[in-house]
Amino acid sequence: MADAAGQGQGLESLSAEERRFPPPPGLAEHANVTEATFEAAAADDVAFWAEQARRLSWETEPTQTLDWSDAPFARWFADGRLNAAYNCLDRHVEAGLGERVAFHFEGEPGDTRTITYAELTAQVCQAANALVELGVKAGDRVAIYMPMIPEAAVAMLACARIGAPHTVVFGGFSSDALATRILDCGVEVVITADGGYRKGKASALKPAVDEALERCPEVRSVLVVRRTEQETAMTEGRDVWWHDLVDRQPTEHAYEAFEAEHPLYIMYTSGSTGQPKGIFHTTGGYLTGVAYTHWATFDLKPETDVFWTAADIGWVTGHSYLVYGPLANGTTSVMYEGTPDTPHQGRWWDVVDKYGVTILYCAPTAIRTFMKWGAEIPAKADLSSLRLLGSVGEPINPEAYVWYREHIGHDRTPVVDTWWQTETGMHMISPMPGVAEGKPGAAMRAVPGVSVKVVNDEGQPVSDDAAGYLVIDRPWPAMLRGIWGDQQRYVDTYWSRFPGVYFAGDGAKLDADGDIWLLGRVDDVMNVSGHRMSTTEIESSLVSHPKVAEAAVVGASDETTGQAIVAFVILRSEAGDGGPDVVDELRRHVAKDIGAIARPRQIMVVDELPKTRSGKIMRRLLRDVAENRELGDVTTLTDSTVMDLIKGNLATTS
Ligand code: ATP
Ligand code: MG
Repeated sequence: MADAAGQGQGLESLSAEERRFPPPPGLAEHANVTEATFEAAAADDVAFWAEQARRLSWETEPTQTLDWSDAPFARWFADGRLNAAYNCLDRHVEAGLGERVAFHFEGEPGDTRTITYAELTAQVCQAANALVELGVKAGDRVAIYMPMIPEAAVAMLACARIGAPHTVVFGGFSSDALATRILDCGVEVVITADGGYRKGKASALKPAVDEALERCPEVRSVLVVRRTEQETAMTEGRDVWWHDLVDRQPTEHAYEAFEAEHPLYIMYTSGSTGQPKGIFHTTGGYLTGVAYTHWATFDLKPETDVFWTAADIGWVTGHSYLVYGPLANGTTSVMYEGTPDTPHQGRWWDVVDKYGVTILYCAPTAIRTFMKWGAEIPAKADLSSLRLLGSVGEPINPEAYVWYREHIGHDRTPVVDTWWQTETGMHMISPMPGVAEGKPGAAMRAVPGVSVKVVNDEGQPVSDDAAGYLVIDRPWPAMLRGIWGDQQRYVDTYWSRFPGVYFAGDGAKLDADGDIWLLGRVDDVMNVSGHRMSTTEIESSLVSHPKVAEAAVVGASDETTGQAIVAFVILRSEAGDGGPDVVDELRRHVAKDIGAIARPRQIMVVDELPKTRSGKIMRRLLRDVAENRELGDVTTLTDSTVMDLIKGNLATTS
């Protein structure tokens, strides 16, 4: 869609959002980031990042900061050497913080483990020694296919410690998705578990590995954690139990320092828009970027905060803000294994209460689910420890933002809406909680040291109050270094739409204050009778109706209007079945809110929406439904039965 976002016609119809939430005074007074931080970073971004790199412990301090001579292939801190695991672990122990809790682990069945920095360091050393015994060397790729248990983080850090890039594959993916990723990056060793707990039962993982490996003859070893104790087939000579191999290893491991540009991991994008890409990240710049943004965006006070990223490690958010960022900063984190409604819909709030969580970071899809379940559920728990809330993964609808702040954040906590991507590695746009006056639905402005622009079709910056394409016009330390095995695709995908700048693929709008609002994927922008409409805006309008919990909007081809708006909505539980006229009522609501042009041609009430592991709605599949087509690739859906449900649902309602 070449003209998708450009110039802003059609997109000016944003529903006016006027609520404002200034930072609480206590937070503003002691904020990690102030207006002066932005000024210093803007004056010299390279010097700013050189300064941030000092958060890390380098074996050889870098003397170079950025080498952009071979753009778009960046090198950051290239002559520096460091070890990522040492930075996340040993150095905190050496600083006397060995007794600080690194993870409060809460298993879905209710089992718990408290792991200190000293213990985590010892476990990672053992796992690193085990990988060495399996013949893993620096540079070898290791796949991790695990439930959300501490060994998943231990496995990642053990790989990092010996310089073996990991590729974590979400435990909910099929054997097919696992095999594709193993083959794409040439994995020889896989770390997995017998299973994990989800929705109240043990769900097996190992059989999917066995099935995947039928297609992957190069894999020579599989290390298996015992979690659920279910019957598990082990292949002689290939499979080994974690407790047999890892537990007998020494708890010390002499680490080696690697070059800053040594690969740290490969992460496949979630595949909302198509075939996943193997995004690869390196060590020094990435760690600098995530340590800084974790500290800045969340106004982190590592001595007192209890931080909870409620995201799977199989998603980039789990890498940057559950493992590397928090641990590099010596943070105490919560890790929760299961689903939010097991054994009851208040499970998350019990976790917050139990561990005294101060900062919660999750996706809008979770927030909308909680809205659907009703505010009386969180009201039963004591959430007074929370002081900051974060959102990631999709634009947060203003209504969801306000609900989150009010019912979870007792109307006091700032909400930071963080825009970033697997590719960016770190937060790129987010309110800084000590300085930003929060606007529901706006990601506000680039974080210090980052430069973004909103441009039109010609690549020219748009004026305030106009919409266009989001681009990043300066390199940043945690940026991807490419697509594994396909550097041409890297150049074509990100650096060719507008010469010299990174094209994010998202539409955005600047408001009159120059603050940024994300409008969703450029590919999702619809063209209705020549008017460009953003899916995000119409979804937000639907969600602002008291009967609606969640909405997904797609453009389906239409003979008269080019594209017509088709909406899928999930109703809030208190709305019951919505009543006979609910569809009309919602169509009128959107027309009144945004304008007649935005009125959906069709609204379908459904129970579920197709989502990726990070909770993003897969609009392309809904478009297939709306246009009566065969479904495209469904391998990255969290739950592949959802599409059958929706189709069944439509058959009975239409
Ligand atoms: P693929 O690239 O394979 O389609 P993906 O883009 O869904 O996968 P991610 O890297 O997890 O995989 O998602 C990044 C995208 O998520 C962004 O490009 C943006 O569209 C969306 N996103 C993330 N955070 C926000 C946010 N705070 N506001 C708006 N959109 C967001
Ligand atoms: Mg993407």
